[in-house]
Amino acid sequence: MTADSPQQPDSPSLAALEITEAECRRCGTLIAGLDGRYACPVCGWVNHWSEGHEALPTGSDDPDSSNRLS
Ligand SMILES: [Zn+2]
Repeated sequence: MTADSPQQPDSPSLAALEITEAECRRCGTLIAGLDGRYACPVCGWVNHWSEGHEALPTGSDDPDSSNRLS
């Protein structure tokens, strides 16, 4: 069995994610984000969570949450 195969045919569907680009509002660097959410690797700026295109999952949507609270 090989560890860390370079090809992962069962990787999550990236087609379902919308990759978008925008300029950092602090330093102007062109950065890429997912679903309208951005984080600048240069200055650390992030946009507000409410600017995302879709609602964020809640804690109860996390399959691990019930395991940790029990
Ligand atoms: Zn920046």
